Amino acid sequence: MTDQSLPFLAIGEPDITEKEIDAVVAILRKGWLTRGEECLQFEREFAAKVSTPHTLAVSSCTAALHLALLIHNVGPGDEVILPSLTFASTGHTVVHCGANPVFAEIDPETYCIDPAHAESLITAKTKAIVAVHYAGHPADLNALMGLCKSKGIPLIEDAAHALGASYDGEMIGCEGSTACFSFYTNKNITTAEGGMLTVPTEDLLARAERLGLHGMDRDAWKRFADGKKWRYSIEEFGFKYNANDLLAALGRAQLSRLDEMQAKRKQVWDWYNERLSRHGQFVLPPHQGSIEHARHLYVLRLNEGSGADRDALVDRLRENRIGVTVHYDPLHLHPAYRERFGTKNGMLPVTEDLAQKIFSVPIHSKMTEGEVDRVVGVLLP
Ligand SMILES: *Cc1c(COP(=O)(O)O)cnc(C)c1O
Repeated sequence: MTDQSLPFLAIGEPDITEKEIDAVVAILRKGWLTRGEECLQFEREFAAKVSTPHTLAVSSCTAALHLALLIHNVGPGDEVILPSLTFASTGHTVVHCGANPVFAEIDPETYCIDPAHAESLITAKTKAIVAVHYAGHPADLNALMGLCKSKGIPLIEDAAHALGASYDGEMIGCEGSTACFSFYTNKNITTAEGGMLTVPTEDLLARAERLGLHGMDRDAWKRFADGKKWRYSIEEFGFKYNANDLLAALGRAQLSRLDEMQAKRKQVWDWYNERLSRHGQFVLPPHQGSIEHARHLYVLRLNEGSGADRDALVDRLRENRIGVTVHYDPLHLHPAYRERFGTKNGMLPVTEDLAQKIFSVPIHSKMTEGEVDRVVGVLLP
């Protein structure tokens, strides 16, 4: 019998202090709520954090991904290579550009896209590769950047899990990269809903900003109407993806606490590792090469021959009021993709096999050692 009086342990939780509350209230009192000075300040501080000159605050990571594909000229009939072990947004935004998603395998050592398999999928129609820094573990950027450079195509990084991560000493999102971050409620920092796009050049930033605001351009109209400040020119069919100052105020306060919150995530991560490494039942989350892990998700994999049933284990955790989920059921097996693109079981054996064995247990910056013990107590009865 499970004890229903136990508090539910959520898989992720926002970490909001008085600092965030005060910052949001100050914006409400000020009265300018939509995109303004606070967004610009958030963009500057985020840029400094990841070391890039070019950032655009947007309404979500999904918006950032869509804009990233559009500014790199992904359009109807093109192909974009991406992993299948990811969230809907990574694939949907490709589809919304009119392009075809081409699913690549993951590297079982990192759970991120396998560069060699991605290379084998490149055709004359390939317009971009999207890499997901799965769980906060950077993808193999050396191999992927080398591949993209040799083929003359851009690498777009789905960095929704990867704020705080670095690769070879450089932050994910650093200068030269096109990276998309999420500030959804369960991510490493949150603005309730929100995202950030980093891009390599000033021109790409201007294009992203215009496409993210209906394709409107104030400067373009100056060519025809000097001095009429209220005029704008609609240059293309853009979207409504701008951030707002409330979101930015929350984001700035969260960003100022990122290092503190990451240190706490690392502590939780180490508590899990210490307790689980002695038991052969689980493969601990991957940690390969010279990287800093963002530790967004703590993903366990059932060991070969452990004999345990993953779904039964997930059920048992849930019965014990522990928030557990699977990241992810592969995208290519969902009905929308099967029906439109003819994807099916057996196409990606490595991904499909891994997806049967993994599950994610709670990790966030407010989690206590006692809560880790509660999870471990159900994992290792
Ligand atoms: C959360 C997430 C997204 C989408 O983020 P939103 O900000 O909610 O749009 C995209 N990709 C991955 C891998 C995610 O986990």
